[in-house]
Amino acid sequence: MLDKSPYEPLNAATLTRRLGGMPELTRRLGPAAHWQVREVGDGNLNLVFIVESPKGAAVAKQALPYARCVGESWPMSLERAFFEYHALVRLGARDPGRLPEVYAFDQSQALIVMEYLAPHVILRKSLVEGVVLPELGGHLGRYLARSLFRGSDFAMDTAHRKADLALFAGNGELCGISEDLIFTDPFRASPRNRVTAGLEGDAAAARADRDLKVAAAALKRRFATSAETLLHGDFHTGSVMVTDRDSRVIDPEFAFYGPMGFDIGSLLGNLMMAFFAQSGYRADHAACIAYQDWILDVAETVWWVFAAEFARLWKSGRNGILGLRELFEDVGHEIGARSVLTDLMEEVWRDTLGFAGIEMHRRILGLAHILEFEAIANEGLRAECERRALAMGRVLMLRARTLRGPREVSALARTMAERPL
Ligand code: ADP
Ligand code: MG
Repeated sequence: MLDKSPYEPLNAATLTRRLGGMPELTRRLGPAAHWQVREVGDGNLNLVFIVESPKGAAVAKQALPYARCVGESWPMSLERAFFEYHALVRLGARDPGRLPEVYAFDQSQALIVMEYLAPHVILRKSLVEGVVLPELGGHLGRYLARSLFRGSDFAMDTAHRKADLALFAGNGELCGISEDLIFTDPFRASPRNRVTAGLEGDAAAARADRDLKVAAAALKRRFATSAETLLHGDFHTGSVMVTDRDSRVIDPEFAFYGPMGFDIGSLLGNLMMAFFAQSGYRADHAACIAYQDWILDVAETVWWVFAAEFARLWKSGRNGILGLRELFEDVGHEIGARSVLTDLMEEVWRDTLGFAGIEMHRRILGLAHILEFEAIANEGLRAECERRALAMGRVLMLRARTLRGPREVSALARTMAERPL
């Protein structure tokens, strides 16, 4: 039985006391007297502890009643742990092995206990260090296809789908944060915004850019109103942990029902920013180009593997509300089913590019910045890399209808990396 005492932020001692009373943990880790607990401390919003014993290990993630990166002046509800737990379980079942296994959930303490991923590192760090990961694109492309397809009306029946939509509608606070921080703040003067010195003029230009704001408005409408599938909701290179053979997805606390292209676009936008950041720390030109080529190859692979795996699931797993086999395959109209898929993929591609572009704006002009740029020690150089990324993001937002595929996007990135500023 879980202890129902009132919520308190835990420390190593109180965490050990709580978890030490949970049989599912003493079974995995042995008696609490032999545990070592430390706080990782690099989370944006939450506390993350690593619990190790001679027998095993676990991670315990606890929500705080405020946003950790800002402090107590930004209150946040503890409920987000509840949604993260439900998302971990669902996304983990949709692509088995790709998320950490959940060992326990203690709602009164907003506490999730899960598999300790080791020796995994956060993908952002790996991208700064220039590590090549041969299977990354395949892993993430398949994860996206499986999670996005299996959470959608193509795979789910009415009763489960509506109940789940209602459950995740409760995660409104975190959706509201995304609505403001991603879709609005970068394009207005907000006290939350931060920019690298030297980019103030670029920020002012974005605020004055009518076409860009029209595109942002259309993307915000897609984000807020298009409940296509259960999304991770914060699928960037800080939500992926890697080794050279494994890639894992963590931290789905922003999960909600939204447009498929949002998760794909967040990832591609972050890969593009990692691409533009490389010249900030790789002085050797040939080494820089080689690693940038690898990043673009990952981005292309993510899309093509996503599309291929989605098409495979389309053929074999379309048993939900929108399956409609009775209109197509059952009466010999396979071509009709293929046309529906083609139309869908075109829409997802457009959304993906738009969301990638807006992600590139909000990470440069908004509140939450990324390690890939922050790791560039020289501010002038960082501003230059960010300016190129902004220019690319703008094209992605405005030309989402005309860019025909991932190779064109890669060609655009190469042009943007070299053009005079
Ligand atoms: P937040 O939501 O506060 O940003 P994250 O879920 O991103 O928290 O976790 C913060 C950090 O804790 C991650 O960057 C990673 O270093 C570490 N971490 C989180 N979950 C795990 C895990 N299951 N195994 C190993 N490390 C983890
Ligand atoms: Mg988080």
